[in-house]
Amino acid sequence: MIQGVTVLGATGSIGLSTLDVLRRHKDRYRVVALSGRSRVDRLLEQCIEFQPEYVAVADDQAADEFAQKLRTHRLENIRVVNGVKGLETIASLAQVAYVMAAIVGAAGLRPTLAAARAGKTVLLANKEALVMSGRLFMDIVRRHNALLLPIDSEHNAIFQCMPAPNEQSAAWNKLGVSKILLTASGGPFRKMPLEELEFVTPAQAVAHPNWSMGRKISVDSATMMNKGLEVIEACWLFNCTPEQIEVVVHPQSIIHSMVEYVDGSVLAQLGNPDMRTPIAHALAWPERVASGVSRLDMIAVAKLEFERADMQRYPCLRLAIEAMQVGGIATTVLNAANEIAVQAFLEERIRFTDIPKVIEESLEHRPSTGADNLEAIFAVDEWARAHARRFIAGLKN
Ligand code: NDP
Ligand code: MG
Repeated sequence: MIQGVTVLGATGSIGLSTLDVLRRHKDRYRVVALSGRSRVDRLLEQCIEFQPEYVAVADDQAADEFAQKLRTHRLENIRVVNGVKGLETIASLAQVAYVMAAIVGAAGLRPTLAAARAGKTVLLANKEALVMSGRLFMDIVRRHNALLLPIDSEHNAIFQCMPAPNEQSAAWNKLGVSKILLTASGGPFRKMPLEELEFVTPAQAVAHPNWSMGRKISVDSATMMNKGLEVIEACWLFNCTPEQIEVVVHPQSIIHSMVEYVDGSVLAQLGNPDMRTPIAHALAWPERVASGVSRLDMIAVAKLEFERADMQRYPCLRLAIEAMQVGGIATTVLNAANEIAVQAFLEERIRFTDIPKVIEESLEHRPSTGADNLEAIFAVDEWARAHARRFIAGLKN
């Protein structure tokens, strides 16, 4: 049977890789819905190629303009929806089995939860959703019998190295798992003298040595907040604590993560750094399909290196681990303050080294609210954004 797929964030880096995998397997998958926001020309090209039933754009005005464009291409049968409601609609359509959650940041939370509530197979790239609301998110997945498959390359690797996937929520001692080794490339500034970090530019920060990704996650990789978010993501996905995860800097990005067992075995998943591998893995799971990724040539790679993560160089990693240890809304605050700080850095309003300062300050002043419902989480998210913006306005450059 051909399975229906919705791609949330189709115009982004993960969206493009997803469509490239889907394009290779038209006998298995049908694109039912796509979403985009600012890159409407790209979205239009995707509509022309994949002829989905639905497309979701930013708002009313964007919807009118997009419908007009579709008419000029005789594609008026594609339904145009918009806003958060539109995204929730395309995430929960009856004819859709798989929802790729690849919107960046907190904006992805509501549509991803809508997919989980509709019991879909959720292919999770949007890590910020789990960081914002991990407990609630996982509860919704369980209650509605959704299947959550990780797209983030490290989590996809861990998933592949874990014992029987259906048992992953069991206690680790029953599974014989002793530790997760979460690998990190170290980003573009791994070797830069610490005193030069405050002068790095957005262009330098988004130039990742191994992966081609969207701008926000590229900055997160440079600060290693990305690894911090991934520690939190792994805790929720694999039912563990930050103490059970060791971050290992591995500059070649060939091993995507490892799982250590009590008998001393360490299982690793390897491959070229190309997101089409985890995307194809999750789409076809438990089967396997071709992804278009070139074969790993171990002789050409020649050398795999490993280093300890330097918390002085990467204060954001420490802040994320501490926030997860505190629990509750601390990770919601961490995520929101980070999104605001990264945006300000990309707009050259703050320095690279101000990013952890904005986050730490926001965490220190966080409210004492619980994280047990979505309204409370969004209220905390808003508070943290406002707080971070005020702090940034007061920073003297
Ligand atoms: P991009 O910035 O390339 O793409 C983001 C997508 O989200 C685009 O389609 C964009 O639309 C859309 N979008 C942005 N803001 C909004 C909004 N407010 N409402 C609706 N849609 C919005 O990001 P990536 O593809 O790199 O990353 C996507 C997610 O996947 C992130 O959460 C990231 O952490 C995660 N991820 C990415 C990896 C990668 O290799 N890229 C690896 C692992 C995880 P438009 O561009 O049209 O404005
Ligand atoms: Mg990753």
